[in-house]
Amino acid sequence: MNTLNADPAEIQKFSDLAHRWWDPTSEFRPLHEINPLRLEWINNRTPLTGKNVIDIGCGGGILAESMAKKGAKVTGIDLSDKALKVADLHGLESGITVRYKKIAAEQMAEEETGQYDVVTCMEMLEHVPDPASIIRACFTLVKPGGHVFFSTLNRNAKSYLFAIIGAEYLLQMLPKGTHDYAKFITPAELSQAIRNAGLQVDSIRGMSYNPISKIYSMNQDTSVNYLVACSCPA
Ligand code: SAH
Repeated sequence: MNTLNADPAEIQKFSDLAHRWWDPTSEFRPLHEINPLRLEWINNRTPLTGKNVIDIGCGGGILAESMAKKGAKVTGIDLSDKALKVADLHGLESGITVRYKKIAAEQMAEEETGQYDVVTCMEMLEHVPDPASIIRACFTLVKPGGHVFFSTLNRNAKSYLFAIIGAEYLLQMLPKGTHDYAKFITPAELSQAIRNAGLQVDSIRGMSYNPISKIYSMNQDTSVNYLVACSCPA
């Protein structure tokens, strides 16, 4: 493809905050808190030890490093130079090796077609102009019989209230403007795009935040945050 499937303002937004990526009390706190949940979910569906994994839109590497710690050989790609630099530096500090690369998912799919047992793409689809193109790239990257995992935000009155008004304005967990409601994707839309790409939807799980206990949990409530596990036909 000739034009990059990326919104420069979105990339800039993450670059501006990147130095705080590994501060668990920063804007990235939600990613730190949901990470053990999503990691265990992935690892239960497809044990990561020894697997060749690519994390699309890896940012500062929270999920990528944790998958490497489980014994996977992990590549993380993103388009934010700063986020990747932070990820690299953190890897030096933690001693956990992840190969980070600045490249678009679509280009990576051309270069490393069918190389990966597991593809993850978390909290990223809602920041790109053409999510379907990213989903197709994930299909191209995964081996036949391999697994692909997505997470994003649902689009409805409740997700507007929780993910934007609640998280950005009332609780101020996220900077204002972090999310654009129009880019939220319903589970039905995401499932359709996944099937159109040639993948199979295996499971959809919800993730919710309790503002009183300040605890995230995974459950059947897909009304705000949700994750989709897919597989590639063998
Ligand atoms: N997946 C990580 C980070 C989520 S934040 C996690 O869940 O922990 C969203 C990330 O997507 C940012 O690092 C941002 O730079 C990246 N991103 C946004 N648009 C992108 C695009 N078009 N291509 C690649 N990465 C993108």
